[in-house]
Amino acid sequence: MSDYVNVAEIFGEDVFNDSVMQQRLPKKTYKELKKTIEEGKELSLEVADVIAHEMKEWAIEKGATHYTHWFQPLTGVTAEKHDSFITAPMPNGKVLMSFSGKELIKGEPDASSFPSGGLRATFEARGYTAWDCTSPAFVRHDAAGAILCIPTAFCSYKGEALDQKTPLLRSMEAINQQALRLLRLFGNTTSKKVTPSVGPEQEYFLVDAEKFLQRKDLIYTGRTLFGAMPPKGQELDDHYFGTIRQRIAGFMKDVNEQLWKLGVSAKTQHNEVAPAQHELAPIYAEANIAVDHNQLIMQTLKRVACQHGMKCLLHEKPFAGVNGSGKHNNWSLTSDDGINLLEPGKTPHENMQFLLVLSCILKAVDEHADLLRESAADPGNDHRLGANEAPPAIISIFLGEQLEDVVEQLISTGTATTSKKGGKLETGVKTLPDLAKDATDRNRTSPFAFTGNKFEFRMVGSRDSIAGPNVVLNTIVAEAFKEACDKLEAAEDFDLALHDIIKTNCAEHQRIIFNGNGYSDEWVAEAERRGLPNIKSMVEAIPALVTDKAVNMFEEFGVFTRAELESRVEVKYEAYAKAINIEAKAMIDIARKQIIPAVIKYATSLAASITAIKAAGLDEVEVQTELLKETNALLKETKDALAALEKVEDEAVSMEEGEAQARFYHFSVTPAMEALRAPVDKLEMIVDKEMWPMPSYGDLLFEV
Ligand code: ADP
Ligand code: MG
Repeated sequence: MSDYVNVAEIFGEDVFNDSVMQQRLPKKTYKELKKTIEEGKELSLEVADVIAHEMKEWAIEKGATHYTHWFQPLTGVTAEKHDSFITAPMPNGKVLMSFSGKELIKGEPDASSFPSGGLRATFEARGYTAWDCTSPAFVRHDAAGAILCIPTAFCSYKGEALDQKTPLLRSMEAINQQALRLLRLFGNTTSKKVTPSVGPEQEYFLVDAEKFLQRKDLIYTGRTLFGAMPPKGQELDDHYFGTIRQRIAGFMKDVNEQLWKLGVSAKTQHNEVAPAQHELAPIYAEANIAVDHNQLIMQTLKRVACQHGMKCLLHEKPFAGVNGSGKHNNWSLTSDDGINLLEPGKTPHENMQFLLVLSCILKAVDEHADLLRESAADPGNDHRLGANEAPPAIISIFLGEQLEDVVEQLISTGTATTSKKGGKLETGVKTLPDLAKDATDRNRTSPFAFTGNKFEFRMVGSRDSIAGPNVVLNTIVAEAFKEACDKLEAAEDFDLALHDIIKTNCAEHQRIIFNGNGYSDEWVAEAERRGLPNIKSMVEAIPALVTDKAVNMFEEFGVFTRAELESRVEVKYEAYAKAINIEAKAMIDIARKQIIPAVIKYATSLAASITAIKAAGLDEVEVQTELLKETNALLKETKDALAALEKVEDEAVSMEEGEAQARFYHFSVTPAMEALRAPVDKLEMIVDKEMWPMPSYGDLLFEV
């Protein structure tokens, strides 16, 4: 097989995309479908039948034997149930391959085991999946063969959202309506639709599969629960560096090819922050597709890593003390005719539409900082946000020098008359939005940064779905747009009202702007003075979902009902408790069965050597004796910490599921886990490496 890859040729070859549909569907059917995709018109069953038939024929040509409604329940990952195209055998003993419109647009997975947070009692366990025709179907090839995957939403019998996609689509509709109103106010009569554009940058670690398999903590929890830091300053020699790069490069080549076939516009890049850590960013797409593609990216990274004898770690903090992984959610608003509402132009101070959009975003983010923070909360991210690593748990906005100056002019005089020149705004090349910015983006510590023509929300966890953060972003900005549009549409003097809104938004929400070092302690104190929330953990973030402020907004824009929000709260507490429960149990297991026995073996060998030295008539055993004492003391500490962890873990398990249990896991169980880890990590630095029961951080990070 030649190594040559024609990207243009393979790009999207496994996707039932627009050009395939145009080619294969009867003209009339194609038009109907386009209407549904573009205008949200309902699809008739006859049309669906025709599409289903063509989709099936196309998929069979690609080798597909099964189809699946591919959906995103509240577990953060995707789910699917495979059905084959085969229908009942015919009299001649052959089978027919069929796929109806009904099967395409609606499915009913036996879904009682997916989290629903009380929305669906098991006796009424019906859950429906409904085709989201705005995200194209695709054929996925893996060990199970080829499967036609149909992106779907997942709802209860009563239509309540049980997934990530349904609220996302609703929020996209909300921002579309309000953004169009805003554009019309500025004289735009041509744009028909405004969609959030999203480009998520995915960080991940790669480790050797054999070493991974020797670490039960990685297997069970995706992160290391024990592990001493590798010696500082460990340098890789050139030769070694070369081998690593070859292996990773081969992996990335395969990842790219597989993603390109699925229509995901991956562009990979190395990330130097931590050893063995890398990053993959696709070119931005409509929010809904970006969310689906990000799931495909995560799955592909995992699958391809296995094919290359490696494991891909998507956990936010696989290694304590080493930089963790996140997902930068780049977000902007684009109209169907190519207008980016976040494009300031060369002279932002004169761009009133942009200033209105910007001031609305300041307001939205300030008023709903707690919701944004919640949207980035997952058990893994607790180790980053507000804990051992940046970005901090405090939401603030970085605007850059030029825009901050414009905002200050607006606040002090009511109008902005100049825009500072230079800097990154002038480097923006529309068709190459990603090239020039890094060099001038001087603030890497802000959780919410303006980067030329988009905002970059940097808090999101690497393993989490990006649906949640985008639901929040779309809805809070829709709300701010709506308030502005309500006033502007009713205003007698448009210009006056416009200036007033921009100035008020900026003045009232200036506290959210922070251009300094977000990682510093001074900022924590300063943010507190400004009254900005600093929500340190997932369990403390969750209540933001059901404040009156949040419920009113989500209900007003038809994104979530109160019941849906309450169910999500329940699901999240449970998910958190489950995650920590597994970690605690894994720790107990590893400490009991692997670590303590290894330490005892080492201590025994030390004692034996002391005896042997003495028997040889020598008295110089101070070093050995000291080591033995130290080992024994740490062993005792380990044993006590283990007992303490077992005690709180038992207590946690006995509690009823819900907020109190989740909080107990956070405030009582995780500290007990830390207390057990501390002596074990010290022991790792003492005990003979040959005897230590698992590969070290150094082995994992530097020997990929
Ligand atoms: P960084 O400065 O963080 O390195 P990159 O230039 O690598 O950012 O781009 C990060 C992501 O932002 C990419 O997925 C890119 O496609 C996306 N992106 C670029 N422009 C926009 C935009 N207008 N809206 C949304 N995402 C965008
Ligand atoms: Mg980035």
